[in-house]
Amino acid sequence: MSEEKYERPPASTPAVRERMRKQARKDTDCEMEVRRILWKRGFRYRVDVRPEQDLRRKADLVFRRERVVVFIDGCFWHLCPDHGVIPKFNSAWWAAKLELNRERDRQTTEFLRNRGWIVLRFWEHQSASTVAREIEIRLADLRRTYGDQARP
Ligand SMILES: [Zn+2]
Repeated sequence: MSEEKYERPPASTPAVRERMRKQARKDTDCEMEVRRILWKRGFRYRVDVRPEQDLRRKADLVFRRERVVVFIDGCFWHLCPDHGVIPKFNSAWWAAKLELNRERDRQTTEFLRNRGWIVLRFWEHQSASTVAREIEIRLADLRRTYGDQARP
């Protein structure tokens, strides 16, 4: 998931800048690979769209008929329990910012579930084939239950 535009302190050191750059690229790689696998298996989806008009947040993958929405969260921006780090420089600012991201993730999930969406969240450190497989299993399940009908 890419991050929105917001004010941020300047990257304090080249190392931080480099980590942020790498992180952004890694997120894209994982998501791209998941998309590629699912597409090859015949799944069709929307990419980077708002599942609901009044939700400001976009989802990485949206399966409208099945009402399944997928987020592949970046370890840095979404404060993954395994790899999330608060940068040392401007650490109070970062801690607040990253915690806010996490809170917004929770709110987004709740909002969508209340509207009847199945919300699947993954971390970008997970292997793309595992993520794709889990999505596939959920979709196959729904198709068995609802056939070609839209899920109520
Ligand atoms: Zn992680």
